[in-house]
Amino acid sequence: MITGNVSAENNKKFPKNIIFFIGDGMGLSQITAARIVNGYLNLEKLPVTGLQTTWSNNDLLTDSAASGTALATGYKTNNGVIAQTPEGQPLKTLFEYAKEHNKATGLVVSSSVTHATPAVFVSHTDSRKNQLDIARQIAEGDIDVILGGGLGYFISHSQPGSFRDDERDLLAQLKQKMPVVLTAQQFQKTANVKRLAGLFARKNLPKASDNRQPSLTQMTAKALQILAQNPEGFVLMVEGSQIDWGGHQNNQSYMLSELIDFDSAVGVALEFIRNHSQTLMLVTADHETGGYALNNGSLKNKTITEGKFTTTHHTAVMVPVFAAGAGSQAFSGMMDDTDIGRKLIEYVRQ
Ligand SMILES: [Zn+2]
Repeated sequence: MITGNVSAENNKKFPKNIIFFIGDGMGLSQITAARIVNGYLNLEKLPVTGLQTTWSNNDLLTDSAASGTALATGYKTNNGVIAQTPEGQPLKTLFEYAKEHNKATGLVVSSSVTHATPAVFVSHTDSRKNQLDIARQIAEGDIDVILGGGLGYFISHSQPGSFRDDERDLLAQLKQKMPVVLTAQQFQKTANVKRLAGLFARKNLPKASDNRQPSLTQMTAKALQILAQNPEGFVLMVEGSQIDWGGHQNNQSYMLSELIDFDSAVGVALEFIRNHSQTLMLVTADHETGGYALNNGSLKNKTITEGKFTTTHHTAVMVPVFAAGAGSQAFSGMMDDTDIGRKLIEYVRQ
């Protein structure tokens, strides 16, 4: 019997908090290979699984700007475009909806924070190449936690290491809003803050295998700790940015070490949702990179003896979706990347 109680019960399943993990370029073969090499993966513990199609508005092979726009806004756009329609109309993002509903927002990435995947949540521009403008929109916006690389886009032209062509000091602008840290040491010492910006490299962060500090896992843990203070909830996006770069380089060990590092950050969120039941966590990719195939290896020896790449670009193959926690059931079965963006926006608007 359908009663009012049923919908009230269902409403409780709308998440207050969303932790959204995007493994850039992380296809099913990559995940399988990482599972073999590592022996287990945290993402195996997410009980709901699905598959998503990733093509963009103008290409079977999406790029991270178009697929990120779909995930962040629920709309397809052309490759290269950041949270706008192909005609240039801005598309309201998950983070903008979250802010309207008094939720805190955070980005944690291992690339520059101005890179395409984080950019689609916090900026609108014709091209992912407009990183100076993306940095300006981040500094002028109201994000609560932003951790990654990209310092060179925030400091004025005359300062050493700047990528800017103007004298705007976006770092000073960020400092007016929140504590800003530039080293792992400063980051580790940060306590009792309500907002935090950390820019730990001029451009992209080092590889996980080169002892990236702070690690993606440490940044994720700190972001959760800060964002969870907001009584209205939060949305956090964590990107394993460099899984994609390993794929582009057809470098299996780079790709797998980045994926295993990303999975370690997933473990932090799994721990978090144990104590915060009103939280949805979602782990997916924006597309597959490298056309990677897992042709031979050994479970016993934890080795891949024959992993082959078929391209240095992205592919059109579907990518997996893993979900756990409040509202996770919506992510089973086959869906499009736009369905994910729409569902997440529906959740934050509850
Ligand atoms: Zn790529």
